[in-house]
Amino acid sequence: MSKNAFNHFIISIEEYFNQNKRDLPWRKKTPMAYEVWLSEIILQQTRVAQGTPFYKKIIAAYPTVKALAEAPEDELLALWTGLGYYSRARNLQKGAQQIMAEFKGQLPSTSKDLLSIKGIGPYTAAAISSICFGERKGVVDGNVYRVLSRYFGIHSPINQGSGPKEFQELADELVQEAQHPGNYNQGIMEFGALHCTPKKPQCESCPLASFCHAYQHQSIDELPVKIRKNNRTEQTIHFAVVERGGKWAMCKRDTSSIWGGLYEFPRLESAPKKGILMQDPITHKLSHKDLHCHFWAVDEGAIGEAQEFYGKGEMEGLGMPVIVSNFVKNML
Ligand code: SF4
Repeated sequence: MSKNAFNHFIISIEEYFNQNKRDLPWRKKTPMAYEVWLSEIILQQTRVAQGTPFYKKIIAAYPTVKALAEAPEDELLALWTGLGYYSRARNLQKGAQQIMAEFKGQLPSTSKDLLSIKGIGPYTAAAISSICFGERKGVVDGNVYRVLSRYFGIHSPINQGSGPKEFQELADELVQEAQHPGNYNQGIMEFGALHCTPKKPQCESCPLASFCHAYQHQSIDELPVKIRKNNRTEQTIHFAVVERGGKWAMCKRDTSSIWGGLYEFPRLESAPKKGILMQDPITHKLSHKDLHCHFWAVDEGAIGEAQEFYGKGEMEGLGMPVIVSNFVKNML
């Protein structure tokens, strides 16, 4: 790679960010580490347009690390309902409690210390430390893999062998030369999200096109290289919808499972002999598995005794998986 191509990349990315940055509530002149952390956790599996209303709701409820650390878990999970991947919310709160105990309520300023906090991985640590404290540490996420692999023509798989390390080293090398590491890091992510997109990237109007390896060699569709693993699984869940005097039996999942800490209807081991299927089965797609959910109206005898019953209004204050809260909204 020529020095010209290397420098052109950094300058163009920073320029792109200055000209195109989206106005987002956590993107401030002096960014606050707590706000950037919260936004990064919310956006890990969620698009900006979908995540921003959740960010506003959660930051309004818990404006400080202390408030988040002390929040009742059920209340936090209820605010998180609809975002999915609930372990993120639980880890976020554990992280806040750790920051209170070990860092006097202030997020640390280096990616090394940030990495010691529950729920913060290399990408989030680099984002917080570079944006809020100017540390020269490169961020690497799906957007960054795509932009770097295309521009520099890197064919190493992004999910296997030495590929991830190679990309991290290149990202670290590039950020050393940036004017402002935080703007550069946000710029490359923004550029990947909005311009060098997975399908139909805007090459004709791209400031990187003159040095872009993939554009010059017509290999855009080949990059980045990802080794596919097809290990999706399927699971069928039979929910027991049991009513007693205008209230319904609900139970809380234990924290080690999918949807841990959330409320749902009790589960049956198999389809009941006596029961009415209340709607066609619904398939809920998780990242690694398809859940086929059946909702059965059954008598109280079909479930164990130690169940709590909730009215519809009370259920709205509980954290529930989206598929259950939609059922409650539409069918009860
Ligand atoms: S020229 Fe196309 S492939 Fe290359 S960086 Fe620009 S948008 Fe991406």
